[in-house]
Amino acid sequence: LHGQALAEWVHQQADIMGTRVNVTLWHDDPSKGETLAGEVLEEMRRIDSLYSPYKPASDLSVMNTEAPSRGAADPLPISEEMTRLLDKALFYGQLTQGAFDITYASLGRYYDYREGKQPTDDQQQALIEAIDYRHVKLNTANNSVYYQHPAVYVDLGGIAKGYAVDRAIERLKNASVVHASVSAGGDSRVLGDKRGRPWMVGIKQPRGGEGVAITIPLADAAISTSGDYERYFIDDNGQWVHHIINPRTGKSTDELASVSIIGPEGFDTDALSTSVFVLGAEQGLALINRLPGFDAIIISRSGKVDYSEGLAAPE
Ligand code: ADP
Ligand code: MG
Ligand code: MG
Repeated sequence: LHGQALAEWVHQQADIMGTRVNVTLWHDDPSKGETLAGEVLEEMRRIDSLYSPYKPASDLSVMNTEAPSRGAADPLPISEEMTRLLDKALFYGQLTQGAFDITYASLGRYYDYREGKQPTDDQQQALIEAIDYRHVKLNTANNSVYYQHPAVYVDLGGIAKGYAVDRAIERLKNASVVHASVSAGGDSRVLGDKRGRPWMVGIKQPRGGEGVAITIPLADAAISTSGDYERYFIDDNGQWVHHIINPRTGKSTDELASVSIIGPEGFDTDALSTSVFVLGAEQGLALINRLPGFDAIIISRSGKVDYSEGLAAPE
């Protein structure tokens, strides 16, 4: 009883993985709750340091340096965790027939959104063939990898934040927390409800719009939103150039403004939000409607909103 009287919400936030991370949890002992929230942020920093393309010593950077010169005879040993990330990413590559492709960065790495730079025509021609997730030869039996094409460069930005929020929620579950919310930019996951009420998660107004477009009530679920307004610039021809790349063309996609996917785990909702962004409304909805347990809210550049079958669409 004494402990319950003290129970309260604990909040912490930090800038990690190039975005704002928020942790909210309910705890009987607020000082233990604060410690736990700190541990969650620490876990997310650990994930960032392993999978950041910007840190030369990250596991990802080491893999991108080493794996292109390895082969079937001398594959690069990687951690079990990297194996799980690559395995999931390659699964979504296959499921989406290459719309989700972590090798998009073979060419996509030459976009610089801050500087407003795009790949040159020479880079486009030379590197487009390096984009193919099937070039990544992963062996899950012995945790090793090699790239079958010398110019392959992998980026996990389309899946790593969803993975990180899952790890955060796992940590809290193991500590017997029953009400929590963790978000990393557009990737969020909630544990339980908000003590008798659902968590209300907002989907931002796409592009230039202020505030929240749609609010979704959630309990025990993940939601990931991909938007063309997170990292972009407008090129000399007035084209909106953003960070989600169609692997077939090497260029940013132009049909959709925002895609939100709801499902049990962030690992999947993150990969699927990026996937549907590339696939477009029609193929994207068809994909989500055949995946049990997942829903989608898709906002087109025209302003049209599409909902998957599992969500009651307002008429
Ligand atoms: P956010 O970065 O806001 O979470 P997403 O989850 O949609 O948004 O991820 C976008 C990121 O995914 C890009 O910044 C890039 O790192 C990566 N990416 C871009 N295009 C693709 C693609 N076709 N397949 C896989 N990953 C991609
Ligand atoms: Mg994603
Ligand atoms: Mg994401």
